[in-house]
Amino acid sequence: MSTASEIVAGLQALGVANGMNLVVQSSLSSLGHVEGGADVVIDALLEALGPTGTLVMPTFTFPPDPVFDPVATRSGTGLIPKTFRERSGVLRSLHPTHSVAAFGPQARHFVDGHPAATALGVDSPLHRLALAGGYVLLLGVQHTSDAMIHVGEAVARVPYLDLPYSDDFNVSIPIRLPDGGEIVVPPSENPGCSINFNVVEEPLRRRGEIRYGRIAEADSQLVRATDVIEAVGELIRENPAALLCDIDWCPFCPRARKLIN
Ligand SMILES: [Zn+2]
Repeated sequence: MSTASEIVAGLQALGVANGMNLVVQSSLSSLGHVEGGADVVIDALLEALGPTGTLVMPTFTFPPDPVFDPVATRSGTGLIPKTFRERSGVLRSLHPTHSVAAFGPQARHFVDGHPAATALGVDSPLHRLALAGGYVLLLGVQHTSDAMIHVGEAVARVPYLDLPYSDDFNVSIPIRLPDGGEIVVPPSENPGCSINFNVVEEPLRRRGEIRYGRIAEADSQLVRATDVIEAVGELIRENPAALLCDIDWCPFCPRARKLIN
């Protein structure tokens, strides 16, 4: 069983530091038994970041609700983000499929403007975090769960950027605003398949850009977000299909390959 102080120590040993802007992608079960559950993990992250750091988590929703409501629409990215977004003072960006939750001095800056940007594209919350010098923490998950790689695809303008993942995503979804109004977000640049995303780890590791460690029982990685985006750009310039998977039943990659000359 792990305690809050052990998790804080693990985060600090990995390099999570005061004042960092950090997006965390996580699996609670990977940590083993944590006394106090998701709340204790969130408290530990906030303690490691301190009052000048900003914590961000994806609160994605697949398949999307008919209307996105930042309060009512569920987060489908696990128990840690679900618990985080329900906390008082945590902001949630307005996007029907790829919202994020954020807390800290940069939270407003990261979540603002999401409806005008694309899901994980240029000027989306995760792109803003990267431009602010932020880091990605993979807490018991691999790069297949690293949404920053999709930001890298958007920055690199991959040939399949405008291909919807599936028909579920190819719809304009209204967003309910806090003042009762609604806006509609068209389905542009919706992220594709992430099954093959572990290919990004090797170039990052080779350059010494990943810090590896264990948080409780979770094998974890810490990497600067702009390093992820640059590594994706290099892979794509070498081979535009580098991030696509080879699985026959994938609803996305076989169609994406047809868009590559
Ligand atoms: Zn695929």
